[in-house]
Amino acid sequence: MSQATAPLPPFFNDTPSVDPARRAADAQLFAQAALAVEAAAGVSVAEAALHAAERAEASQAEAEDAARAKRHAFEMNKLSKRLHREVGQAITDFNMIEDGDKVMVCMSGGKDSYGMLDILMNLQRRAPIQFEIVAVNLDQKQPGFPEHVLPEYLTKVGVPFRIEEQDTYSVVKRVVPEGKTTCSLCSRLRRGILYRVATELGCTKIALGHHRDDILQTMFMNMFFGSKMKGMPPKLVTDNGEHVVIRPMAYCREKDLATYAEHREFPIIPCNLCGSQEGLQRQQMREMINDWDTRFPGRVDNMFTALANIVPSHMMDRSLYPFATIKATGAPVPGGDIAFDEDEGCGDTPGAASTGLPGEASVSLASLRIRKAD
Ligand code: SF4
Repeated sequence: MSQATAPLPPFFNDTPSVDPARRAADAQLFAQAALAVEAAAGVSVAEAALHAAERAEASQAEAEDAARAKRHAFEMNKLSKRLHREVGQAITDFNMIEDGDKVMVCMSGGKDSYGMLDILMNLQRRAPIQFEIVAVNLDQKQPGFPEHVLPEYLTKVGVPFRIEEQDTYSVVKRVVPEGKTTCSLCSRLRRGILYRVATELGCTKIALGHHRDDILQTMFMNMFFGSKMKGMPPKLVTDNGEHVVIRPMAYCREKDLATYAEHREFPIIPCNLCGSQEGLQRQQMREMINDWDTRFPGRVDNMFTALANIVPSHMMDRSLYPFATIKATGAPVPGGDIAFDEDEGCGDTPGAASTGLPGEASVSLASLRIRKAD
């Protein structure tokens, strides 16, 4: 005689916080009780045992689902805290946002800009200072751009916003010869428009969603292809001198932002609508850094921390250190040249204060500290 498996009693559908051991014990008790009931109802022992096994299996699967959901919620909570802490730290370290600021948050519709807006809005509610946020998106009229997505999202989250419509796509297509890269002109046009919008809105800061990986990629691109030690600053005055650009996500890892975007279910707009392939050089840098991150845990963190621990006396830029005029002082010089000894990884205190002597001249950009994942 076949019988549908009876629904489990309510205590089986308990909250995920129930101890799995208690759940297993309850399941066993329930299974024994069910066996007894079925035996009394004339169900054969074999069938009753089969039903019991099915119920035990279902209960086990439910318990595993609940444990998984609990673990996921815990991980997402930890990730969210880490990202908020990193953004707060970057803002503090570089004095990015001050009392009375009006921050223009540039929204491309990609994961990083959504994350930036989300976190800045949360920090705005808790910050000891008052600042305004206005989200701005430049609709460049790329074919297939889903115009409704950002306005709907920004309305839903209740942030003031402006959608600036400028057909830079047609301009770029008209001006740049077929087959040539369009990014340079496109980004120059975009920059000019965003500066103008910032002025019109009375914004004191322009926030961009670049993160730690963007900064490192830029650093290596400039080294490999531009022969320069130059990264992407967390805060800098714009090239026209009229605005201050900030990058509040400077300490955040890209993979964390990707997970956060998925978790928060941001309505991501694809970033390939213009038809331009992402710069090959940047892609190479990304792959190189990701490969290092996989094979040598900690290396990328160290590289990033190194950006804030520069020792000009141990580089070769004559405009940063007066190599031509240094003289022996006759006294020991902390950080002075150690001739043939190996120096690397010796545990020198990073960011140690400069002594003013001709040996070491360590420049520490504020107190940049990169935390390891919790
Ligand atoms: S990828 Fe497309 S939208 Fe982005 S800068 Fe290049 S041309 Fe412009």
